[in-house]
Amino acid sequence: MTSFHDLGLTGFDEALSALGWKAPTPIQMKAVPFILKGQDLIAMAQTGSGKTGAFVLPILKRLTSCAFEHQEKAAPAVLILVPTRELAKQIDDCVCALAQGQSVTTVLLIGGESGLKQSRALQKPVDIVIATPGRLLDHISRGGLTLKAIRFLVLDEADRMLDMGFLPDISKILHECNKNRQSLLFSATLSPEIDTLAQKLLKNPICVRIHANRQAEGIEEKIYRVPKSEKATFLRDLIVDNGWEQVLVFTRLKTGADKLAKHLIEDGFTVDRLHGDRTQAARSRALESFKSHAIRILVATDVAARGLDITQLPVVINFDVPVHPEDYIHRIGRTARAGLTGIAVTLVDKTEGRALEAIEKLLEKKFILETPSVYQAYFEEPIHIDEPARKPVKPKKPQKGKNSKDKGSKKPKKTIEAFDYVLPDFS
Ligand code: AMP
Repeated sequence: MTSFHDLGLTGFDEALSALGWKAPTPIQMKAVPFILKGQDLIAMAQTGSGKTGAFVLPILKRLTSCAFEHQEKAAPAVLILVPTRELAKQIDDCVCALAQGQSVTTVLLIGGESGLKQSRALQKPVDIVIATPGRLLDHISRGGLTLKAIRFLVLDEADRMLDMGFLPDISKILHECNKNRQSLLFSATLSPEIDTLAQKLLKNPICVRIHANRQAEGIEEKIYRVPKSEKATFLRDLIVDNGWEQVLVFTRLKTGADKLAKHLIEDGFTVDRLHGDRTQAARSRALESFKSHAIRILVATDVAARGLDITQLPVVINFDVPVHPEDYIHRIGRTARAGLTGIAVTLVDKTEGRALEAIEKLLEKKFILETPSVYQAYFEEPIHIDEPARKPVKPKKPQKGKNSKDKGSKKPKKTIEAFDYVLPDFS
């Protein structure tokens, strides 16, 4: 088995054993040798694959191996750009844990937190800056930071940054960066836009890829057909019947997250929400309570929950089918991390068939859809119980003449009243 030493990563033994990292993950095995050699790299890897370690370890090694001198103040050697605040914090935690015992300094520049405090931190020599694009540009434009000394630039979750419209900000940041640097681009998916960005950013890059979550290794995927109006009730029963104690639920919209959380709280669950309309403090609190098991359910939107690392998260629920098929990979990748197993459940109503097909196309596989028996009638018949009740239409008097015998004798349409279905058991 390849060890961290075999990869040239010596000097991290204590930190690695404190983290419980016994051997490198596949993305670490593939990417580390090239990064140590100083090559630009594009890596296709999802969160959960150990990608953070894949760039943090070799960068720390190179930073500290040659006579290590601290950077000037406000002129970092390393810039790690990420799409969300939560991801920035996670990476900062990872850097601090791996740099244990080495006097490397980091500064986190993210929105939703005091800019003044961040400016003060930049007054001291700083080696590594971890930032979201907007806040980084704020500091640069105020003259609080220069990127002229950057030796390593990392764009993490680049596909998500482009989805979030950060391309103009990224272009400005690249313009500010030292040209003589090593650049690394990490992305879960490859698209023509990522390709264009890679051409702008990287010089003679090596491309490495792993397919861990695409094949959903260790993740049991379940797809249930459930009418939209029944989803909250179905979810409640699913959680109770399977005894799931820590459940991350994704909704497409912030309002959807609020509505579902309210519903679940009324059902007696401990719940919090993670979405962009909440303050940074509230988001951090929600995440911490979920990680420490103080609450049972966290309802999140895609952007807010992107890249979250929750150790041993057993269950992820897609309450809505994601509109962007890549989000399916990101969502279910929250479970079965670092070699563990997990369950990913998706609830699909009649209007979400297309979105599900797009995911199948991306994953190059066909899902097996299960329809709980109580909903079978709903999915078999073209009735729309989600529509507002219509005014009753007066039945027309049967016309005399041909076929008049059949008119008005149709069976009544089935509605969903009973909840006597047996829920699937994952145990
Ligand atoms: P990431 O994909 O960087 O978000 O990492 C996902 C999870 O894997 C984190 O909890 C890391 O602490 C963990 N991890 C990363 N590398 C290793 C490793 N070599 N062995 C065990 N766990 C790891």
